[in-house]
Amino acid sequence: MTGTTTWREDAGRDLVRNVGDRFALFVRGEGAYLWDEDGTRYLDFLAGIAVNSLGHAHPVFVDAVAGQAATLAHVSNYFATPPQLALAAKLKQLAGTGPDGRVYFANSGAEANEAAFKLARLHGASQDARAARPRVLTLENAFHGRTMGTLAMTGKPAMQEPFLPMVAGVEHIAPTVAALEAAMADDVAALVVEPIQGEAGVVDLPDGYLERARELTSRHGALLIVDEIQTGAGRTGAWFGFQHAGIVPDAITVAKGIGGGFPIGALVTFGETSELFYPGTHGSTFGGNALGTAVSLAVLDEIERAGLVENASARGVQIRERIASIGSPLVRGTRGRGLLIGVALQHPVAGAVVAAAQEHGLIVNAANPSTVRIAPPLNIGDVEIDDFIGLFTRALATVETSVLLDADHSATTEVSA
Ligand SMILES: *Cc1c(COP(=O)(O)O)cnc(C)c1O
Repeated sequence: MTGTTTWREDAGRDLVRNVGDRFALFVRGEGAYLWDEDGTRYLDFLAGIAVNSLGHAHPVFVDAVAGQAATLAHVSNYFATPPQLALAAKLKQLAGTGPDGRVYFANSGAEANEAAFKLARLHGASQDARAARPRVLTLENAFHGRTMGTLAMTGKPAMQEPFLPMVAGVEHIAPTVAALEAAMADDVAALVVEPIQGEAGVVDLPDGYLERARELTSRHGALLIVDEIQTGAGRTGAWFGFQHAGIVPDAITVAKGIGGGFPIGALVTFGETSELFYPGTHGSTFGGNALGTAVSLAVLDEIERAGLVENASARGVQIRERIASIGSPLVRGTRGRGLLIGVALQHPVAGAVVAAAQEHGLIVNAANPSTVRIAPPLNIGDVEIDDFIGLFTRALATVETSVLLDADHSATTEVSA
């Protein structure tokens, strides 16, 4: 804050208007809780959009940042550092690439997906000219990022529209096995897919989709690239979402939860795909620096040590049962897996539920107009879940009342009209 202006005025004047008005000015966090500048406490069941895997200000995170910053933060990719090599080995191990996997480090999800897009192009170009593969398939409603390459991959025409023309070659297909069978051919370089479509509203893939996608991409020589940016780092109750399907992809992208709040992304490649990049084909100044990789390694080690993948699985079931037992007439059901949960509503009132939750001291978000997304830290327990259910029940009740009033009102209007 500067002098006499409020933080809202500062934000309204100084920040680019790419998002709407911010709800709060948060000044501190601890575990699953946040505090605003007035000292009001909020339960954070969004975790920075599936980012703060260990919650806020976890001692492991704090020590890793401070310790590595005091040792060596950045030297550029002309040189290697111990944390970079250790994190690459850790990601290969967790993803199950075996010895021939490789890791490319980036600073965000979009950058990891840009690397994946370039990987797909390299794969297309590595065929002889007649067998070139100009096509990259992604799913309708998919979200893969906001940079020009990843925006082309994102299956939301409204997001693309102000920025046309898009990078060529991307086709969005319906998220069904039939659509995949119809689209797949020998000119496809890659299929890029999220195990659960997070930004679309926590939408699960049809049963057996990834298994069938693996068969079809293999048969046609296309890469299967799984976007694990939201689903990775243990969030769904496995280290990566694809592991529930028991398949082996050609590449995965990760970001969000692997850094626990530190910006980092990565592309992890499997098998022959690992040989596609060669010197000069891609790079990043910050990507994989000692500071970011040391923090991510510490976060992943803590997720493993504390059994948080298992916790995500068990707590996810617990939360979904508790939401069902609220018995709210607004709630149609839940989607997702582990601690990536979409609460499907009967009406497009997710925005109102989120606003009511915030007023009651709970942070969640509207992943689409009729879905509330819940993505808490992976280390939550009974205390946080009890707190969540209490606050969420009150938020739903607030909106139920207004929806019922609206329904009464429109009924009255209809009668009188
Ligand atoms: C968040 C997200 C991205 C983009 O990550 P950024 O770090 O915001 O660039 C890409 N794919 C998926 C599935 C995501 O959830």
